[in-house]
Amino acid sequence: MEREIICTSCPMGCHVTVTMNGEEITSITGNTCARGERYARSEITNPTRTLTTTVALTDGGVLPVKSDAPLAKKEIPHYLEQIHEVIVERPVLMGDIILEDIDGNGVNIIATQNVF
Ligand code: SF4
Repeated sequence: MEREIICTSCPMGCHVTVTMNGEEITSITGNTCARGERYARSEITNPTRTLTTTVALTDGGVLPVKSDAPLAKKEIPHYLEQIHEVIVERPVLMGDIILEDIDGNGVNIIATQNVF
């Protein structure tokens, strides 16, 4: 079985083909560099994403937030449940930690905007 993946590690966007025999990766082609191979391997075995969303402010507004490192894609609905329980009071500075160590591996949810 073959899977086509577009590498998003840099703007070149190489089309990488991963060939599988069952669960085993037998070849990775189409990548221009080693980062592409690592990306493809990760996409197959444990895909990750930077999470972006918003949290509520006490006055009814919303604050845009993101994870400060990629999180396991399959766990994102679980993380969103936790994040959406948070209500934040102004002022908030960009980079402030809104939720610390959300995954137990040191990934924080941080503000991506100043709100005064
Ligand atoms: S394989 Fe290398 S050159 Fe191609 S998109 Fe990925 S990081 Fe960029």
